[in-house]
Amino acid sequence: MTNSFLTGQVLQGQRALVTGGSSGIGAGIARALGAAGAKVVVNYRRSQEEAHRVVNDIKTDGGDAIAIQADVSKQDEVEAMFAAMYDRYGSIDILINNAGMQWDESFLDMTLEQWHKVLDVNLTGQFICAQLAAREFVRRGISPDLSVSAGKIICISSVHETIPWAGHVNYAASKGGLMMFMKTIAQELAHMKIRVNGIAPGAIRTRINRSAWETPEAEADLLTLIPYERIGEPADIGRAAVWLASDASEYITGETLFIDGGMTLYPGFREGG
Ligand code: NAD
Repeated sequence: MTNSFLTGQVLQGQRALVTGGSSGIGAGIARALGAAGAKVVVNYRRSQEEAHRVVNDIKTDGGDAIAIQADVSKQDEVEAMFAAMYDRYGSIDILINNAGMQWDESFLDMTLEQWHKVLDVNLTGQFICAQLAAREFVRRGISPDLSVSAGKIICISSVHETIPWAGHVNYAASKGGLMMFMKTIAQELAHMKIRVNGIAPGAIRTRINRSAWETPEAEADLLTLIPYERIGEPADIGRAAVWLASDASEYITGETLFIDGGMTLYPGFREGG
């Protein structure tokens, strides 16, 4: 391995798919992968305009990207997306399983529809995409000019894969399940030189959690949970995703990288306990 990680373009020529890549963390990751030399598919569900903005940003930066629509919870749409990606770029080297949603409700009032919808997108959506990507990695094998691994999958989870979250049982259960999904397929695929890891963001400034930071009062409240005393930005996740997708992290598989400014460090215990 060269020290090209220090000079950028560590993903030169690799083909990456970022689900939910038109906004927030996914857009941050797509831009970072593009800047690192990857060809990027920006998946979006509805907002073509947002997806094209991300694609244009990557191109303006000298990169290569396209936008492809698909609902990650619908197998036929995901299959069509992968087919369109292979038409354009030939194959896939990196899957960023990022698309996700919340539909919050107290446990006592949560409907089965709310439960199923969040599990379908956050967990089943990752299953559908990861399975298609892994099948392609196995079919194609290692491309030594691109990477020492046959393929990399990064599952965007949440600190709520480990922190219980009252009023969000569907979301927390999806992310907890995702952690064991990630580890199990990492164990199953490692011998084929496929790496699977998770990123668990803390509070990142995106629209999914707008109510937690949009007023000064809400932001001050949120900061009490973050020892590093700032809200994260999509670029914080983007930089880590580049590293986790690159050969610089070759020997890492089945791990969750928490990127949370210390949110999982039990901040209440700094003075108490
Ligand atoms: P976001 O709402 O900007 O991004 C979610 C993206 O997923 C959107 O682009 C949305 O259109 C897309 N999406 C939703 N359902 C989809 C579907 N069925 N098919 C395809 N795309 C779909 O919010 P974000 O914060 O950027 O969230 C990205 C990921 O990060 C999610 O998995 C979320 O759970 C996770 N996360 C976010 C935070 C945070 O603080 N923002 C913290 C922990 C984890």
